[in-house]
Amino acid sequence: MIDAIALDPVLLAQALIRRPSVTPADAGALDVLQAAVEGLGFVCRRLPFGDVDNLYARLGEARPNFCFAGHTDVVPPGEGWRHAPFEGVIEDGTLHGRGAADMKSAIAAFVAAVARIGKQKGSISLLITGDEEGVGLNGTQKVLGWLKENGERLDHCLVGEPTATARAGDTIKIGRRGSLNVELAATGVQGHVGYPAKAKNPIPPLALLVTRLSAHKLDDGSAHFDPSTLCFTTIDVGNPATNVIPGEARARLNIRFNDRHTPQSLIAWIEDEAAKVVTQTGAEISVTPQVSGVSFLTPPGAFTALVADAVRTVTGTAPQFSTSGGTSDARFIKDSCPVLELGLAGATMHKVDECVPVAEIAALTDIYAAILKAYFENPPK
Ligand SMILES: [Zn+2]
Repeated sequence: MIDAIALDPVLLAQALIRRPSVTPADAGALDVLQAAVEGLGFVCRRLPFGDVDNLYARLGEARPNFCFAGHTDVVPPGEGWRHAPFEGVIEDGTLHGRGAADMKSAIAAFVAAVARIGKQKGSISLLITGDEEGVGLNGTQKVLGWLKENGERLDHCLVGEPTATARAGDTIKIGRRGSLNVELAATGVQGHVGYPAKAKNPIPPLALLVTRLSAHKLDDGSAHFDPSTLCFTTIDVGNPATNVIPGEARARLNIRFNDRHTPQSLIAWIEDEAAKVVTQTGAEISVTPQVSGVSFLTPPGAFTALVADAVRTVTGTAPQFSTSGGTSDARFIKDSCPVLELGLAGATMHKVDECVPVAEIAALTDIYAAILKAYFENPPK
């Protein structure tokens, strides 16, 4: 007997929203999902790592294995909601609540799509993490490692993040830029402003480096990506005195980079620029990088065409391919199989009064069902 909650994506989305699963808390959200998919015949595996719970569920044993990936965790609600953030209230055809857009409704839409089309030749799986909105250490990355160790192959993956600009299916993310954070620290010698010769001010060398890095054009974009961008986010000296040359100055930057760079190539470039400023000024400058994501790209081909055609069949409009926006767990999945991102409109995600029209959840369910049908009729190589 299939539970009503698996057949109706709005009921399941509401049930998920009613679990306040603010990262890393699960609050029973994965239990709700597991019960719904077990009713459809999925074999479920809970994969807790650290303080995070994750779920891998699979329907069928044969290949190809089509995987839907997503997360049940949400960002904190914040204050001032019109409707309580964890009640899943529907008003005037719109579902309200934290996770309505990002991305509990998409998970519910996928489950309802599977319930509609039933078991296929091949397998359908769900990789759902409770650690996407946090640091992402104990979520998708670890689950993918577990899958590999246990001989579980994913052939193609769809991530249900809210990638649409206005309507479900209007945009398919075929890639995302990578993200690199770097802290620069210039060290000099503290001293009296009246005797600057006896001190070494780290601010001018740091300012010089900031200017050099900011003035550099990283690239002109590539076939599928916009140009890479570099932004300084802070410069800190924190000197309360008017008569002291400080001993240290720091700055931080973030680079969103396309497929023309690797974190290593960017770090090498920054270190090289820092070395030039050191030679020129005699200051000491340290460069501390932290890679938060590499870029990924699933180039247009059989898989993207299949998904785009399925969307057009349902909505009547061809989707846009895009590589804009922040990072997502697709950056980990891309090492396992081709991955695309397709979900609801993200206009209200992470905001107060997050909401999504019920009709959009229905449309996304139709889209996911059409993709699954087309996929198993003619699996892309
Ligand atoms: Zn998300």
